[in-house]
Amino acid sequence: MQKTIPSYDPNDTDAGLKILEDLTANAEQIQQQVLHEILSQNSGTEYLKAFLVDGRFSRQIFKNKVPVVNYEDIKPFIQRIADGQSPDVISSQPITELLTSSGTSEGQPKLMPSTAQELDRKTFFYNMLVPVMNKYVEGLDEGKGMYLLFIKPEIKTSSGLMARPVLTSYYKSQNFRNRPYNKYNIYTSPDDTILCLDSKQSMYCQLLCGLIQRHEVLRVGAVFASAFLRAVKFLEDHFKELCSDIRTGSVCDWITDSGCRKAVMAILKDPSPELADEIERECKGESWEGIVKRLWPRAKYVEVIVTGSMAQYIPTLEFYSGGLPLVSTMYASSECYFGINLNPNCDPSDVSYTLLPNMAYFEFLPVADKSHDEISGGSQCNGVENGDHNLESKDQIVDLVDVQIGQYYELVITTFTGLYRYRVGDILMVTGFHNKAPQFRFVQRRNVVLSIDTDKTSEEDLLKAVTQAKQLLQPSNLLLMEYTSYADTSSIPGHYVLFWELKPRYNDDPFELKTPTMEECCSEVEDCLDYVYRRCRNKDRSIGALEIRVVRMGTFDVLMDHCVSQGSSVNQYKTPRCVKSQGAIEILDTRVIGRFFSSRLPKWEPLGLDSN
Ligand code: AMP
Repeated sequence: MQKTIPSYDPNDTDAGLKILEDLTANAEQIQQQVLHEILSQNSGTEYLKAFLVDGRFSRQIFKNKVPVVNYEDIKPFIQRIADGQSPDVISSQPITELLTSSGTSEGQPKLMPSTAQELDRKTFFYNMLVPVMNKYVEGLDEGKGMYLLFIKPEIKTSSGLMARPVLTSYYKSQNFRNRPYNKYNIYTSPDDTILCLDSKQSMYCQLLCGLIQRHEVLRVGAVFASAFLRAVKFLEDHFKELCSDIRTGSVCDWITDSGCRKAVMAILKDPSPELADEIERECKGESWEGIVKRLWPRAKYVEVIVTGSMAQYIPTLEFYSGGLPLVSTMYASSECYFGINLNPNCDPSDVSYTLLPNMAYFEFLPVADKSHDEISGGSQCNGVENGDHNLESKDQIVDLVDVQIGQYYELVITTFTGLYRYRVGDILMVTGFHNKAPQFRFVQRRNVVLSIDTDKTSEEDLLKAVTQAKQLLQPSNLLLMEYTSYADTSSIPGHYVLFWELKPRYNDDPFELKTPTMEECCSEVEDCLDYVYRRCRNKDRSIGALEIRVVRMGTFDVLMDHCVSQGSSVNQYKTPRCVKSQGAIEILDTRVIGRFFSSRLPKWEPLGLDSN
């Protein structure tokens, strides 16, 4: 274990909290120690040798000489690692696998290097979540967690190196499989159901185990909110079959994975007609409102990430979870695990993550303040990045402890695994400090935009506008389940298209699309979009009327399956808020059941001096 990773007993809440206090109180020293450790290990690598003359290094030399880079800059090095060429390209420690990120480069997932030691760092990170939850929620050791976790297939590079998503790597690791079965990490899902490659069988078996043990479950969750809601939907579609299995004490025939069958049978044991009746009664009710609370009555919270693009799921989660708190515990990526939420009880809109200073060396590129300028620049779709003109000067890059409250930054990391001053692509805003360690609200991924003319609409802008517009659906009892967007330039002028998947609030409600309501939704979105958009649309007429295309229920599941087939993992999947690929657009377009356009121009008034 490296010295920047303290060892302690994860069962000891006080010891864990003390470590967090020490880490955050000594953030500056730890950051310097981390950088020193990384550079002393790796100054002889081919990558760093190009910048550090004679292998000499100091923090200042590092900052002066080593460039801030994007994925495209390091891709040739990563490719050489994938091809098995020359060790010591970027890291003195062997790169043991490549982690496939949900961000893409030229249509392919980005590949992030990882080392054996990195697993210990991640394990430390996960262990740190336990004392924080225990501090706020009592009695978590008196039951189990129903976490729906999935893996996806791995691929081997030409040199035989494994390439897989970070969570697949973690769940398959000895660190996860041999995790101490202490009181706090007993899950209802047997490892064999999590490690089943068939995501449908995995989901079915995990839900079955979760239902059988429903009275022992104290918390439920998945990694991202979208995955949890997908499980709720799966349950809606399969509850009869699940109940039948519980009633008869047998597993249905289509569960063919022997590991899954065996693991489930060990839990199912005997027929339980009463339990099956109880569950079926809840599922057959008039509405699924509060279903999570009803099926798992002892659950104290739902643990899912609901920040960033996941925020749009909050209302749906609230609908299903029956008032259970939604807890976002961590902020992490394939490149590195970043930070944890030290106040897990807070409202989802107030979530901030405290970056743990021993995870990596963190630097921050200031980004123009949202209130003065748009954060987003360039055009991006599905994680393909492009352009950086929103950044203030790269000379203004600051260290972790020097960030300013209220300021927006792009995160830049130097890791133990061979990434040096790498731009993650996430925009964060500083909300405060815990001791010396800053806390950040996740704002958005860089450059996630829709653009037709000079307008630049970020994911956050779109979410706000959609959130506002969907209020207009309330009288018609329709719920917006999912949305994405697309800049349609097939006609002149181009226009924004939003794809909406709607669902009646109650199963018996009619599904009726009222043209005036839908047109008003289009207009409301436009009214909520930013100044430049409204100017282009109203004054310049360089943008056409915004369109909402309502798609059949289940369309976004097909979109997800498509994305997963293209390399996204089920755990890490996030609905793209903007689609560009022909395949994705076709999936959406062939399922359209109603098209509506804004029938009026959005409000716009010139602002003093308009230099645009
Ligand atoms: P991946 O590389 O596929 O693991 O995706 C990592 C990215 O997911 C991060 O860089 C963020 O953009 C996003 N992400 C991860 N955790 C969170 C979080 N807690 N809140 C918002 N976005 C997150």
